[in-house]
Amino acid sequence: MNETKNCPYCGEEILAGAKKCKHCGEWLEEEPKPVTVKPEPQSPITVMARPTEQRFSQPIVINNTVSSRSNGIGTAGFVLALISAIFCWVPGVNWIIWFLGALFSFFGLFKRPRGIAVAGFILSIIDVIIIVAVIGAVVGVASSLFS
Ligand SMILES: [Zn+2]
Repeated sequence: MNETKNCPYCGEEILAGAKKCKHCGEWLEEEPKPVTVKPEPQSPITVMARPTEQRFSQPIVINNTVSSRSNGIGTAGFVLALISAIFCWVPGVNWIIWFLGALFSFFGLFKRPRGIAVAGFILSIIDVIIIVAVIGAVVGVASSLFS
């Protein structure tokens, strides 16, 4: 504990553990902290562990930021296509939901994480088959009523 250092303010030799310089009266509270942190990276366990940790953690972090950052339009398209699939038997309003879903999914295809947009687009194609079948059924019923 009798180690000495030089005061950063006046340059005079003072005790390493000193909180206040006895020569110039400056407070040195922040000085000892970086010295105590130093031994940590020297331990071989932490040095060996760090590169593997980064290998596993970094791609996950990148994926998370990419998926959360972009292709909100693709996600919106997928959600709308899903709503349209659930309410595919409802004529009228559902066709607007389908149209918006197909539109958002289509524009989502040009964004980076395309998975959700592709899913939304495929779902929109399935939706249109169901919608056409519903229209066909409605037209069929209507024509049978009038004939
Ligand atoms: Zn001093």
